[in-house]
Amino acid sequence: MITLQTFFEEARAGRLTGIRCQRCAELAIPPKEFCPSCHQRAWELVPLAGHGTISSFTVIRVPPRGRAPEAPYAVAVVRLAEGVSLLGRIVDIPVDELRIGLPVKFRPLVNEDQTVVGFGPA
Ligand SMILES: [Zn+2]
Repeated sequence: MITLQTFFEEARAGRLTGIRCQRCAELAIPPKEFCPSCHQRAWELVPLAGHGTISSFTVIRVPPRGRAPEAPYAVAVVRLAEGVSLLGRIVDIPVDELRIGLPVKFRPLVNEDQTVVGFGPA
C-alpha cells in the first residue's frame, strides 16, 4: 500500500512522487487513502518532475518553538507542472524575492530522521 511513509522515503532520496488513481486517473499528492474523485483505493505511484511555480506563500517571522534560528522563512503552495499543488518550505530564496508565479524546484530538507518537502530556486 502506498502511504505517507512511502512518499517521505522517496522524498528523502530526492524523488518527488504523486499517486495516480488507476480507475479515474486523478492525480494526488501527498498520498490519501481514497480517491477524492471516484472514492476508490487503486493508487499507483507516479514520479513527478518537481518543477512548479509558487501560487501562494506565507513568511513565518515568529516561528514555532525550537525553530527560532530559522526565522524568517517561507512556506509556499507550489503548483507543479503536472497540475497538482503541494505545500513546501522555501529554501535558498530570500523571502523578499518571493512572488506569485516564481518558478521553483523540489528540494527535500533532510534532517536526521525527518524529511520536509522543500522548494528551492528552479
Ligand atoms: Zn479515482
